Amino acid sequence: MTDKILDGKVALITGASRGIGRAIALELADAHAQLILTARDHSALQKLAEQITSAGCCPPLVIPLDLTDETAIGEAVEQIKNTTNQLDILVNNAGITLGKPLEQTATAEWNRLMAVNARAPFILCRELLDLLRRAAPSHIVNISSVVGVKGYPNQIAYTASKHALRGMSIALAEELKSQNIRVHVICPGGVATDMVQQVRPDINTDELIQPAEIAELVRYLATHQGNGIIDEIRIRRATSAPWF
Ligand code: NDP
Repeated sequence: MTDKILDGKVALITGASRGIGRAIALELADAHAQLILTARDHSALQKLAEQITSAGCCPPLVIPLDLTDETAIGEAVEQIKNTTNQLDILVNNAGITLGKPLEQTATAEWNRLMAVNARAPFILCRELLDLLRRAAPSHIVNISSVVGVKGYPNQIAYTASKHALRGMSIALAEELKSQNIRVHVICPGGVATDMVQQVRPDINTDELIQPAEIAELVRYLATHQGNGIIDEIRIRRATSAPWF
């Protein structure tokens, strides 16, 4: 355990069941935030919550949630308002990918990627804004991607969804600045999780960014309150050419 810089703060993390979201949860729990963990895999969330609690950190609130389901998102928001009724940090991390060229991308697949990667963060930002406003200074951290900056072949839908998330983040940062709510977007290159294996099995996993490296950035952003605003962090693999 390190310092307790987030003691008394409440953080919601989507996609906390594995990969980057799980690493963010461990990092923010270590800083003593009270966590709200969401994803579809209830059992993985429960195990993570037990791990965090047994390490002496605040017991997290676990909310199983499918982000494609707008009604379920609304119910989760209600649950948050009926329990913690506080939110200082919103981390929109959950995401899905698809490695297909244009002609093989079905409309349903496009819609699904947009729903999880872009629409759900939009809904959560909107529905939780009152809590974030009340907690100000507060933070929204959206996990976009290197593909939110650059176009990758055979990742049409994923690229579009991550551009959408990054675009919303940049606009929202300006919209909420005067309310002392800071909106940050992180654009990582390849990170060692299940996801990257799915779309880039050719990449040597030893050379990938570690999930904990992204989590450290989230912790920094969620605690930074200087005169400078950090809109965006781009982090890429040390061994790769820019954005590849
Ligand atoms: P993983 O596939 O390891 O984890 C994805 C997370 O999202 C899981 O916790 C999963 O939980 C959750 N999730 C997926 N679909 C849904 C859904 N319908 N409803 C709710 N939760 C869902 O991916 P990463 O950890 O690698 O990715 C995390 C984020 O980082 C994503 O937004 C991704 O786009 C982004 N990113 C990843 C990079 C990488 O190289 N890995 C690079 C750049 C960005 P569950 O299955 O339990 O629902």
